[in-house]
Amino acid sequence: MNIDLKNKVCLVTGGNRGIGRAVVKTLVDSGGVVAFDFREREKPARELAEEITAAGGRAQAFQADITDEFRVKRMVEEIHDELGPIEVLVNNAGVNRDHSFAKMTKEEWDEVIAVNLTGTFNVTKAVLPNFIEAGWGRIINISSIVGQRGNFGQANYAASKAGLIGMTKALALELAGKGITVNAIAPGFIDTDMTAGIPEAVTEKIKATIPMRRYGSTDEVAPAVVFLASEQASYITGHVMSVNGGLYL
Ligand code: NDP
Repeated sequence: MNIDLKNKVCLVTGGNRGIGRAVVKTLVDSGGVVAFDFREREKPARELAEEITAAGGRAQAFQADITDEFRVKRMVEEIHDELGPIEVLVNNAGVNRDHSFAKMTKEEWDEVIAVNLTGTFNVTKAVLPNFIEAGWGRIINISSIVGQRGNFGQANYAASKAGLIGMTKALALELAGKGITVNAIAPGFIDTDMTAGIPEAVTEKIKATIPMRRYGSTDEVAPAVVFLASEQASYITGHVMSVNGGLYL
């Protein structure tokens, strides 16, 4: 099977590093034209766009905090003007602010919900009119295994990621008759900055619980995103795809 995104314009939020960065590169490798956003780390974003352009691909970086709905709307207009209407949306940007619930502050709760859940709402809301007008679109939300089964010290993050699964299913139903599919990916533990802060001893304990006995790589998540973005995935909607080494079945 050959996946060809045929110059479809894709937007990946949080594309400058981690899972988003691998998704950007894999979408470009599959023939997509990729806009990606970053919140504050501009250097890796610019370097990624330059690296892709130098290799003959098309990718462009945009700054936008996805919690700022007005900036998000503006960014979507900028992408439309510079690259064309968006056809594939990957809601990847996310944060964690971990504490046991007893110690979790209201600020930590609010920030995680604002980025992971309301930020996804903001970007989807800004992009969706184009999809409806075109009668075609792909939305892929990056949830988490933590949204499926919970995790100690992550009540805010688990609520946001479970919320994304609910949003994915509701939107899939609303958009099924309009040529638009909406799916989620639930990665397990993946090697990125987000997991780099976990102490070594805890990491070893986590790995011992994973049937594959290792963390996944960002390159093991990105192909799942590209498949769900493809024409070939046209009859798949409302699905939550686990990429977790067997940790939650
Ligand atoms: P990283 O911490 O490596 O990267 C997070 C990305 O999100 C960065 O690009 C960051 O931009 C961006 N971002 C954060 N807040 C905002 C915001 N307010 N507006 C715009 N962009 C923002 O994370 P990962 O690559 O590990 O995670 C990517 C996604 O996958 C997240 O949704 C995460 O919850 C999910 N996930 C990760 C897992 C893992 O084990 N790593 C497991 C399961 C799910 P900047 O660099 O500019 O701050």
